[in-house]
Amino acid sequence: MSEPVLELVNVVKAYGEVSVLHGIDLRVGAGELVAVVGPSGSGKSTLLHIMGTLERPTSGVVRINGVDAARLGDRQVADVRARDIGFVFQQFFLAAHATALENVADGMLYAGVPARARCRRATEALERVGLSHRAHFKPAKLSGGERQRVAIARALVGRPAIVLADEPTGNLDSATGASIVSLLHELNAGGATIIVITHDHDLALEMPRQVQVLDGRIVRDSHAASVL
Ligand code: ADP
Ligand code: MG
Repeated sequence: MSEPVLELVNVVKAYGEVSVLHGIDLRVGAGELVAVVGPSGSGKSTLLHIMGTLERPTSGVVRINGVDAARLGDRQVADVRARDIGFVFQQFFLAAHATALENVADGMLYAGVPARARCRRATEALERVGLSHRAHFKPAKLSGGERQRVAIARALVGRPAIVLADEPTGNLDSATGASIVSLLHELNAGGATIIVITHDHDLALEMPRQVQVLDGRIVRDSHAASVL
């Protein structure tokens, strides 16, 4: 693997007495499409929060593009997050009062991109997810699948090093979910590095790499010679 865009070394996470992650080692290279799969309660969302620097690990190392997040202050971590990481969540989290285009453009608010460039890049990102014709619709006028496409465009618009998607098809019917999965494949073929968190084994098997999580541990990684 070339220099990893994301690297976790012996990551442990505990909430008080409750230990959730027990020593996670994971390297993800540029251009990968990875499924992190495991049953509900296995620690997947906690892992995503730590990979995305939304939470700090109790111990262990998180490196984004080679930079150890623990060495950065909160402000610098927020900058790394804004520049290098795009998030997609099961619940979409779109602003109801804003159009699709505005929601996508907001993905660059913290990256210091001037307004006109934000609009142009948001227009391009909506094109990439096949939603140009809905640019001026508000979320209430969009289907679930369209909302998730907007959220994916928002995650991609700043061209982050990595996109983290937590159960991106969890609120969608299976046909719509399948179209979102093929969109993720297309975006990956276009160069995006994507990690998809899912409890769905069939969905995971459609990804080139599967990392299986159980009770806060990686129990299988299809790309690692040996993880245990
Ligand atoms: P998954 O996404 O795989 O369903 P989570 O990462 O959401 O799993 O949760 C894993 C375990 O960690 C669960 O038992 C959950 O109750 C616990 N957990 C998650 N977040 C917290 C928290 N903030 N405080 C205490 N326990 C938590
Ligand atoms: Mg979860």
